[in-house]
Amino acid sequence: MECISVFDMLKIGIGPSSSHTLGPWRAAERFIKELKGRGRFEQVTGVRVLVYGSLSLTGKGHATDLAILMGLSGADPERIPTEQVPETVAEIRNTKTLMLGGSRAIPFREPEHLVFLRKFLPFHANALTFEASCGEGRLMRETYYSIGGGFVVTKQQENAKKKERVFQSFPFQVQSGSELLRYCGEHKKSISEIVWANECSIRTPEEIDRGLQRIWDAMLGSMYEGCHKRGELPGGLQVKRRAPELYEKLKGTTSYTDPETWLQSIRKTEVKFRQILKWVSCFAIGVNEVNAALGRIVTAPTNGSAGVVPAVLMYYLVIENHQGGFEHIRKFLMVAGEIGSLFKKGATISAAMGGCQAEIGVSSAMAAGALLGGSPEQVLCAAEIAMEHHLGLTCDPIAGLVQIPCIERNSMGAIKAISAAELALDSDPAAAKVPFDKVVQTMWETARDMNSKYKETSQGGLAVGVNLSDC
Ligand code: SF4
Repeated sequence: MECISVFDMLKIGIGPSSSHTLGPWRAAERFIKELKGRGRFEQVTGVRVLVYGSLSLTGKGHATDLAILMGLSGADPERIPTEQVPETVAEIRNTKTLMLGGSRAIPFREPEHLVFLRKFLPFHANALTFEASCGEGRLMRETYYSIGGGFVVTKQQENAKKKERVFQSFPFQVQSGSELLRYCGEHKKSISEIVWANECSIRTPEEIDRGLQRIWDAMLGSMYEGCHKRGELPGGLQVKRRAPELYEKLKGTTSYTDPETWLQSIRKTEVKFRQILKWVSCFAIGVNEVNAALGRIVTAPTNGSAGVVPAVLMYYLVIENHQGGFEHIRKFLMVAGEIGSLFKKGATISAAMGGCQAEIGVSSAMAAGALLGGSPEQVLCAAEIAMEHHLGLTCDPIAGLVQIPCIERNSMGAIKAISAAELALDSDPAAAKVPFDKVVQTMWETARDMNSKYKETSQGGLAVGVNLSDC
């Protein structure tokens, strides 16, 4: 049984990838914490990191190396100013010295101490092993698996018992869509009320609201930055940021001074169908351009798909409901998180396990259900429709960078989410032929059948079909 909070599904972090950047960063932080917990930190004179499988194959493009260096340096991905990342990494590379946990200087020469191996470990495609030594002896060795969405586990799953205890404390212990609907029906509650009750068993209402407000502020901030920051994305593909140009044509003459007044100003612009499509694309693309440039975003459920949920929520606030405020934002995020957790429990949110259906497909389902505002059955119906039309979507990023097709794909995921919500609103969920749990199961079976070259390895699809010299 897995206990997943909305704050596990929606995490503030740094781009470009939740499994290849945020996960390894968190793994490095965890290694330091465990060294300290075992009283060995003060003895460490050297650290070596071995990177395996998909993490190794696309890790350079996904900034896995930078993330490991930052994690070993003790930086917090949620709070560190993003401009400090390249500065810290340059310092380590120039001095060949790393400040372990922010306080202990150790020699660190990348070719020797950060080794990328093509081999896959059997437990999961994204693996990394940390070794700490003192003199000639080894102090500690641990292998972590980055299983998607910034989640990190060890093979032993030693914290499984703790998670089980937290899960047992939830008043509504949900493992599937049908269980969720049963609780809603029996207790006459909406999905957001069920999630709220569960969250209140582990946090105070004030903590929940503060956390959700921070998540929304980070989402809005990433859309704002994405729509204003021009230039080329890093990585060598020479991809030009498009969101600012899209935005320039849409914005009209309204004025604003910060993200909040910006949101208000968009409410005053003229919106016809084509403009709506462009606004939604602009928001989604903006977030993922920030993500591709190692900026701050919210994983939802991953970094590669981080633009879908904010773009659809922004659409709700600036187009559908001009009176929308924090009450609506809170409900939206809680329902989105719950839907994402159902996919994590019943299938996967890792592209290394299931291709892009596990990233963009899940984010689109999260946004579709959260947007709907109908009955619980209609909410899951919207999520089902959105996922149904992402089944089989492969992951094939060119040059291992989270840029092509990733950035545009967020726009497609957001538009499909809106369309799925509208379809579900006018449908009778009782007449639906594909229940929500069936699409979760089908996504997982499709993931297992999918050729491994389409699972975040950049060994198939567009990644090999497009000539890099043409980029
Ligand atoms: S193709 Fe999809 S799953 Fe793969 S990195 Fe891009 S957004 Fe993520």
